[in-house]
Amino acid sequence: MSLRTQILLSILGITFFAQSVFGFLAYRQITESRGDQLTIFLQYLSREVAERLTLPGDRYVTDIYLEELRQRFSTPESILIVQKNNKIEYIAGNNQNHIAEISDQMEAYTDSDKHGLIKMNGIEYYWAVSRLPDNNYQLIMLEPAGNEEATIASTLRLRLIIFGAIILWAAVWISLLLSSKISRQLDEKNEQLKHLALHDNLTGLPNRTLLSDRLGQTLLQSQRNNQPFALFLMDLDRFKEVNDTLGHQFGDELLKRFSSRLQKSIRNEDSIARLGGDEFAILLPQTNLEGAKTCVERILHSMEDPFCINDISTESKASVGIVLYPDHGDNTDILMQYADIAMYQAKKLQSGYAIYSPEQNTHSIRRLRLMNDLRDAVDQNKISVSYQPIISNSQHKIISVEALARWQHHELGNITPDEFIPMAEQMGIIRTLTLQVFEQALKDCQHWAQQNHHPGININISTYCLQDLSFPEKITSIIKNYNFDASLIELEITESALMHDLNRVSRILEQLNTIGLKLAIDDFGTGFSSLNYLKKLPVDTLKIDKTFILDMCSKPSDKAIVKTIIELGHNLNCKVIAEGVENSTTLNKLALLNVDIMQGFFYSKPLPASGLGSFLAEYNNQGTSD
Ligand code: C2E
Ligand code: CA
Ligand code: CA
Repeated sequence: MSLRTQILLSILGITFFAQSVFGFLAYRQITESRGDQLTIFLQYLSREVAERLTLPGDRYVTDIYLEELRQRFSTPESILIVQKNNKIEYIAGNNQNHIAEISDQMEAYTDSDKHGLIKMNGIEYYWAVSRLPDNNYQLIMLEPAGNEEATIASTLRLRLIIFGAIILWAAVWISLLLSSKISRQLDEKNEQLKHLALHDNLTGLPNRTLLSDRLGQTLLQSQRNNQPFALFLMDLDRFKEVNDTLGHQFGDELLKRFSSRLQKSIRNEDSIARLGGDEFAILLPQTNLEGAKTCVERILHSMEDPFCINDISTESKASVGIVLYPDHGDNTDILMQYADIAMYQAKKLQSGYAIYSPEQNTHSIRRLRLMNDLRDAVDQNKISVSYQPIISNSQHKIISVEALARWQHHELGNITPDEFIPMAEQMGIIRTLTLQVFEQALKDCQHWAQQNHHPGININISTYCLQDLSFPEKITSIIKNYNFDASLIELEITESALMHDLNRVSRILEQLNTIGLKLAIDDFGTGFSSLNYLKKLPVDTLKIDKTFILDMCSKPSDKAIVKTIIELGHNLNCKVIAEGVENSTTLNKLALLNVDIMQGFFYSKPLPASGLGSFLAEYNNQGTSD
């Protein structure tokens, strides 16, 4: 039943109910007041009669007097009866034929009855009783109710009908107005809710739900008309960094500008959706490979100009994955999945866009499998640790080792940390993994200590560990367990990790610093950040990213960067590590630039714990014998 009908029916129901109650009450009021009047009248009479009635004295006089009384009644049918012990003594009036009947019914009266209705021969009468001073007699009056009642009822009915009709008319209108107003408001609210449920708040673009709906419709239409269509999935490169460095408001504004550039690059019949975060999708009906390429190039071209927000100019490129119907798939889930794979490919190749190809799929199957197996490997503590020596330039001694996670997959062989660490981060198991590596490293250090080697230990810490306020506590408990000297531990953190909520991160780092741990900034020089954090955080070491070191002999610009970082580090009272030293030429150049510490394949590749034990013995002995 519609809301309008419901409102109408309930108002009508209430009106009818109110009218019936009102009618009933009015009717009762009128009949009762009529009975009351009769009683009062009788009481008045009885006082007067008592003085003149000489029952059972002079009957004649009494009869005359009663007749007199009867005539004083306005209604001719009224009769008066004087009764003793239910026996009728005197009767006057027109209803003498029914006296026996009246007498029968009168027997039922109790003393408390004052007036009421009595039915005789189908006619209703009011009756009223008044006790005479001589208790043996009562004065009873009967008055036909028929006429009175009929008049009252018909007047009432007429009034009720007129008022009822007016009220009904008003009620119908009010309910119609009310219901149409309410249903209009509800319609508006529903529309708003529907819009909210199907659109993204920030950009106003359709969301994932609406996109899948449209994708389904486009698929059906394309199947019917035998036409191709294209689906793009895209996200902004390095958006997370922009968001973390320049703030969420800046990030939001960037997304809005990005979506408006997207809108200008597509046709009217194409639709854009924001799937969440910096992920967008574009559906292009009736589009083949050529059309898709033209469109994606237009989109990428539109992103070439930097975005200027609050006087800050930032470049933001997108990676687009393209999938085509019917070439790549004929169901919406598959198409979305393949577009995602293609986007991942575009990101990896930094190629702007990638069109889905089945070879990419094998990568994604491998990824899914690895993710599944990685969870088991971490659960079963199967991630091992290798150690790469870190050598002091001045002392030519191994002063520390970097712990590097290793995963030997039972079928796929060695999986590099560059592949499985991001997976562990994505799956939320990186904290467990980090603590496992940390504990294993301390265990191995304890072992080397028994052989009289006491290198420091460098541990890589992911961004996600620095979000966890209980992390320092967990680290402290492991250090205590192994009774390890905390000052020998250095945590390596990448610049981008620091950019996640600097306040929170610095609180955690301060805590770790209080325990005595050192802090190194890893991959220094690659981060997309200001150097502001360097003076805010307790940084001990800068670790120059290996890409600069690998190329510093062939690229003067890289050499200049290395030189600058070393000077910057020293000016900030930090030690500087050069990582990725692969040959003696690089080593000599770095030594001339006054780098403090070196690490790289030239000295040693990362080694398993046992291998490192012998390396430590060999290298340090060689150092002392030198
Ligand atoms: P990273 O922290 O920059 O580690 C140094 C990487 O450079 C290591 O790669 C190491 O084998 C490699 N390397 C060292 N010297 C040379 C050199 O002379 N030439 C070249 N080409 N490479 C060199 P690996 O072990 O594959 O680790 C890769 C990355 O995985 C690490 O980069 C680190 O970011 C991450 N990672 C490894 N273990 C862990 C871990 O336990 N926790 C976390 N959060 N990340 C880890
Ligand atoms: Ca590192
Ligand atoms: Ca590094």
